[in-house]
Amino acid sequence: MSSIAFDADLQDIFFTVFEQLDADGRLGEIARFADFDKETYQATVEEAARIATEVLNPINGPGDRQGCKVDDDGNVTTPEGYAEAWRTFSEGGWIGMNADPEVGGVGLPNTIAMICTELFSSAATAFSMYPGLTAGAARLVHKFAPEAWQLPVATKMFTGEWGGTMCLTEAGAGTAVGDNRTRATPTDEPGVYLLEGEKIFISGGDADFYDNVVHMVLARTPDAPSGSRGISIFLVPKFEFDDDMNLGERNGAKVVGLEHKMGINGSATCVLALGADKPCKGWLLGEEGQGLPIMFHLMNEARIGVGVQGQSVAAAAYTYALKYAKDRVQGASVENFKNPDAPRVAIIEHPDVRRMLMTMKVLVETMRALLYRVALYEDLSHSDDLEESKRKKLANRVDLLVPIAKAHCTDLGFDVCVTGVQVLGGYGYINEYPLEQLVRDAKIMSIYEGTNGVQAMDLLGRKLRMKGGALFMEWLGDSQKLVQKTSGDFPAEAEAIGKALGHVGQTAMHLGALGQKGKLADAMLQATPFQAMMGHVVLALEALDQARVAKAKIEAGEDSAYLHGKLLNLTFFVKNLLPEAIATGKAIQSGDTSCLDERLFA
Ligand SMILES: Cc1cc2nc3c(=O)[nH]c(=O)nc-3n(C[C@H](O)[C@H](O)[C@H](O)COP(=O)(O)OP(=O)(O)OC[C@H]3O[C@@H](n4cnc5c(N)ncnc54)[C@H](O)[C@@H]3O)c2cc1C
Repeated sequence: MSSIAFDADLQDIFFTVFEQLDADGRLGEIARFADFDKETYQATVEEAARIATEVLNPINGPGDRQGCKVDDDGNVTTPEGYAEAWRTFSEGGWIGMNADPEVGGVGLPNTIAMICTELFSSAATAFSMYPGLTAGAARLVHKFAPEAWQLPVATKMFTGEWGGTMCLTEAGAGTAVGDNRTRATPTDEPGVYLLEGEKIFISGGDADFYDNVVHMVLARTPDAPSGSRGISIFLVPKFEFDDDMNLGERNGAKVVGLEHKMGINGSATCVLALGADKPCKGWLLGEEGQGLPIMFHLMNEARIGVGVQGQSVAAAAYTYALKYAKDRVQGASVENFKNPDAPRVAIIEHPDVRRMLMTMKVLVETMRALLYRVALYEDLSHSDDLEESKRKKLANRVDLLVPIAKAHCTDLGFDVCVTGVQVLGGYGYINEYPLEQLVRDAKIMSIYEGTNGVQAMDLLGRKLRMKGGALFMEWLGDSQKLVQKTSGDFPAEAEAIGKALGHVGQTAMHLGALGQKGKLADAMLQATPFQAMMGHVVLALEALDQARVAKAKIEAGEDSAYLHGKLLNLTFFVKNLLPEAIATGKAIQSGDTSCLDERLFA
């Protein structure tokens, strides 16, 4: 058991989703969500918080220490309690929260499903990867599997009878997915291929709580062109099955090893051999050569999902650190530090500890706002009930913000966990407390689902240039409107954020000019700093927007320390965190390329 109780910050969650973003009002305009209302959303999130607290969090620490095992037949044993937790998920419909009811889903909006995912991942990141990956794979099955299987297989997965994985990575093909070498040879049966190769780092490659695993495997067909265009995608089950979903023979996809890793130890990270000791059948999804477009169908969802993981561990770190700081008594207050007889105080009284906690709080709450906003825009952009121009604008905004949601929230998520360790001092480093595990669990999030370096290049090299820069210009324009709208209530803060927006625009132009001169390396060198800079401004805008809503509520007579905290969040962000963005912009515009010139002893 964790030495500090897990807590979900439902007050902040509900403020963000209902008060700031008016998600219930905006989702209420969509026919597909007509069966839901604010009360249902609230009750769903409260139930998710209960499961996170009572079912998931108790298995998080022990699962980390126990890890997973694999036997010679390739069957994985997960930590104690995982099977029961999976049963809770299956029975409660949590795997298919936002899936279509025709495949056993609940049909909730992504926005609400994301909040539940935040809570699950906050309580037990490693466990919550199994339902997340299964749902992702099931979505591909639902859309692209051979027709007779689309509904029944996706249903098996969304209801938790079968699991699912994503198999892209190979030893020589990580970031460069197009370098995949797994071979897929057609058989006499239409759409059926024999696969040979080895996939590595496959999360949830097997588990002892589902009857079958359906792998989504990237592979190359004979004579396929080199690079990404030659990649196809296959449905590769652990056990073959017939059209009535009866399980048959064991297929030749077998887990032959587990990685020993830094964190998320309850998530089995598998080496998956395909066709090594018996033939491995795979069923083509879509058409040959469509592997990456089909896989990238999930890209926004998957990247936002990893951003949520980053925010979720940060949220856990913050609540643990806050509780600890209120209880832990150490030393006298700074005013009395020379007096040996002065009363001892809780460490939350020390200014440096308050600074750490405030940094954590502000980042957790602004990241939450960004992620919920992206999820809400995603829901609205897919609704036929909205005018096409509005839908397009929302979809553009999602496209622009996805790399920031993924990279900034996972980089900051890790940083917040590290700060959490610092708040606890020596006990933060000791595994009796949950902070050290959070740091280890958090690190992978900046690496998988496209490293953060790749996200930054996507933002700078693709998203900023998309539609002639329209996505970026629209974002700048809307952000300036928020600044203007709030300049009466928060003159100093709105002005500072307005200036920071100007810096982001100038820095983007500077980098664009480098690109136009063909100095691609010089521009890409600054991709990560630019992503961090823009990310900080994006979060500052969320702090401003939250303060706007809080002030209106205070003026309407609803006064509380929580709402005043939103005003202080804004001040703190603008005075302490926003200057980093300006400084980064200046560093980028200095044009320094010394690291490209330095030999680095190569
Ligand atoms: C615990 C865990 C779980 C995982 N789960 C899955 C899974 O379920 N399914 C799956 O398919 N994969 C999974 N992965 C793999 C993961 O997605 C890859 O590790 C990741 O894509 C990076 O690939 P790589 O490790 O080969 O690193 P590399 O691609 O070798 O990258 C190393 C460094 O070089 C940088 N780099 C590489 N290429 C470029 C470039 N062109 N420009 C600039 N910088 C570049 C990267 O940003 C990184 O900093 C998992 C990995 C781990 C550790």
